[in-house]
Amino acid sequence: QHLISQIAAGEVVERPVSVIKELIENSLDAGARLLEIDITHGGLKQLRVRDDGCGIDAADLPLALARHATSKITTADDLEALHTLGFRGEALPCIAAVSRLKLISRPPEAALAWSLVSNGGDVTSPQPLAHPPGTCVEVTDLFFNLPARRKFLRTAATEFGHIEQLVRQLALATPSVAVRLSHNQRLVVNLPAAPADAAADQILTARHAALLGEDFAAQALALDVHSANAHLHGWIAPATLSRAQGDRQFLFVNGRIVTDRLVNHAVRLAYQDVLPHGRYPAFVLFLELPPRLVDVNVHPSKREVRFREGRQVHDLIVQTITQRLASGRL
Ligand code: ADP
Ligand code: MG
Repeated sequence: QHLISQIAAGEVVERPVSVIKELIENSLDAGARLLEIDITHGGLKQLRVRDDGCGIDAADLPLALARHATSKITTADDLEALHTLGFRGEALPCIAAVSRLKLISRPPEAALAWSLVSNGGDVTSPQPLAHPPGTCVEVTDLFFNLPARRKFLRTAATEFGHIEQLVRQLALATPSVAVRLSHNQRLVVNLPAAPADAAADQILTARHAALLGEDFAAQALALDVHSANAHLHGWIAPATLSRAQGDRQFLFVNGRIVTDRLVNHAVRLAYQDVLPHGRYPAFVLFLELPPRLVDVNVHPSKREVRFREGRQVHDLIVQTITQRLASGRL
């Protein structure tokens, strides 16, 4: 039983940043407005995510650590109507199988929180404790029981670098969520939540500046178009801001960070006449599609998607960006 979980874990959890990604997705699915992420020694020692989301009922707590017990998909139709980031009911059990994990949760209406501890998948019985509403997941000694895997991890600085990049990236898609990230108790990222009014623009600008640079934040061209089935929005850099590295390209499909060759191709095509050879444009693109038109169940890491109508997505992107570059700053 543990062995099967450990093998499955290998697909979901590759390194500390994969744990953080799954924990943050769970917090966002729970409607969190505040994310507090604390990392110790690059996550090699400890990773902790605290949120103020809907919490988990005491009765359901053990299920959260049981494989597929909480899967949101029982039929193919469910997958087509998916509106959450998680759906396999796999991440927490997998992480628990390869670490020492502590799960504390309290729904806002409950008087007390309950906690569970798992040691490489051996789960203790729930204990009550005082704790603010929301959920806290603490993962210590990742891969302590898989020494071969632990050897593949890099230095604390490198692993933390991956985590910081991911957190800043996710923050682009969640302007209404306050995000704090600290490493070894030093606050590294502190992004307040955007209010639901005009100030939102400023906050977004700050989030962009942090990840893509001041030049992008100041000069990016905004996009916002609807087609029959899709909503494409976000920001693209004018050709003059291109760089020799393609590391400032961020795509979200239905709120999920993904990399997609079709989309990259479309962007390249749109820029091809204005960009010098070997240069890459910066962009932050959000693509919203009805769930039935995107398959997110391509890989356990959920970093890839498959579009049901790829041609339309491709053409929408080429057209929109081509026009926007031609019209310049409006
Ligand atoms: P999935 O996200 O695919 O449903 P996970 O293994 O990531 O599966 O999480 C299992 C379940 O535990 C979730 O479906 C959810 O019900 C619950 N859960 C996990 N993290 C949180 C959280 N931060 N807040 C509320 N519920 C959570
Ligand atoms: Mg999940």
